[in-house]
Amino acid sequence: MNVAIIGTGYVGTVTGVCFAELGHNVVCVDVDTAKVDQINAGIPPIHEQGIPALLKKHVGKRLRATDDYNDAILKSEVTFICVGTPSGDDGRIDLSIVRSASKSIGKALAERCVDARYAYHVVVVKSTVVPGTTDDVVLPLIRENVRYGGYGGYKGYGGAEEVVGVTMNPEFLREGKAVHDFMNPDKIVIGGDIRAVDTVARLYKNILCEITRTDTKTAEMIKYANNSFLATKISFANEIGNICKKLGIDVYEVMSAIGKDFRIEGQFLNAGAGFGGSCFPKDVKALIGRASELGYDPLLLNAVIRINEEQPMRMVKLLANRIGDIRNRRIAVLGLSFKNETDDIRESRSIPVIRELLNRGATVAAYDPLASENMREVFPDVLYCDSAKDALDGADACMIMTEWTEFGSLDREFDAMRDVVVIDGRRMVSLDRGVYDGICW
Ligand code: NAD
Repeated sequence: MNVAIIGTGYVGTVTGVCFAELGHNVVCVDVDTAKVDQINAGIPPIHEQGIPALLKKHVGKRLRATDDYNDAILKSEVTFICVGTPSGDDGRIDLSIVRSASKSIGKALAERCVDARYAYHVVVVKSTVVPGTTDDVVLPLIRENVRYGGYGGYKGYGGAEEVVGVTMNPEFLREGKAVHDFMNPDKIVIGGDIRAVDTVARLYKNILCEITRTDTKTAEMIKYANNSFLATKISFANEIGNICKKLGIDVYEVMSAIGKDFRIEGQFLNAGAGFGGSCFPKDVKALIGRASELGYDPLLLNAVIRINEEQPMRMVKLLANRIGDIRNRRIAVLGLSFKNETDDIRESRSIPVIRELLNRGATVAAYDPLASENMREVFPDVLYCDSAKDALDGADACMIMTEWTEFGSLDREFDAMRDVVVIDGRRMVSLDRGVYDGICW
């Protein structure tokens, strides 16, 4: 099938290359022309395992990029919206990019109605959006622009609903394992009417996975419930970990045991500095925002966010307990990305930690295998080092913020510190000397 992908960030790029790998013809659209040029040159716009090889294989054959909606949509049967849905200042979802993309799609489809003789086209919302958005925001904007977007005679032919279907198909990939997750999903959810859902299901026909067919609102809610549950598991583990630390109990032993219970399952129980990334914090906040608009106070979800926001501050408190005044001290921060195997720093737990350290007058020497350049844009005054050893050299203390595998084998490198004081937010290190404090253990 011919597919247009709107937005070539993490989700759009992965969706584009994977559909090309599944045999579809894909045109990616982005307003950022640098990304468009990168894709057409076979250069991945994001860091993600598997993307370089798939781009190389398909660019110029089954995959290309453009900044022109018409170019992508006129010849396609399905268009995926994969643009960002950030949090607004109040935590509620900011749909401005989705709105803008929907209008542009509608305008392009208006042209298509002339060219393609009203051939059926499906718009798929893959961005994470609060329940009701696909039907109440995306669909009306598309219809409005199809109807009035350049082809006056269109009104006489039965209405936009006859030629444009809209579905919601949430994405559950994990950054760092995104290509694997797209190709081997544990669920595919498609919400919408039968004709639209069937069309989108055909795109996935070579993937071995049962498709959950539902309505758009339920598909939207499945994504939020999924992420909120995982975030809740992490905050739960962190809360139990905070109590365990006070009792002198190893929370990892506790979680390892309860994870053997099939009703609980062992993943997302690693107590530590908390969750970050482009999804969990913003999605939980967006659901809280939507619930509040509806007059419901989501007590559990508010607690999940509050625990998550306190974890990094607990680490700074542990540091201050160990070294006293932080002013003018050199603190090594190991790990900047929100998790390992990605350069994504969105909502990384290292951000509030570094901000607090700088506010208190510390010098921060940071190291991350991939994310330093991204973090430089947030904190230009941090000293970015080329190795963990360089960051540790002469440091008064070290804070471990990301679970990069290489941190697990650090040992003699700590001897370059002025004092060996390690505050570990990810259970990466075991030290037989100096001061070692785990956040929850
Ligand atoms: P992103 O910010 O990395 O990428 C969005 C892209 O859209 C950018 O390249 C941007 O330039 C482009 N864009 C902005 N406005 C545009 C427009 N009007 N037309 C065309 N392109 C435009 O976002 P992301 O991380 O890929 O997330 C996209 C959506 O998918 C979000 O709703 C997110 O919550 C959801 N999601 C993300 C992940 C993840 O792991 N990143 C996983 C599942 C779902």
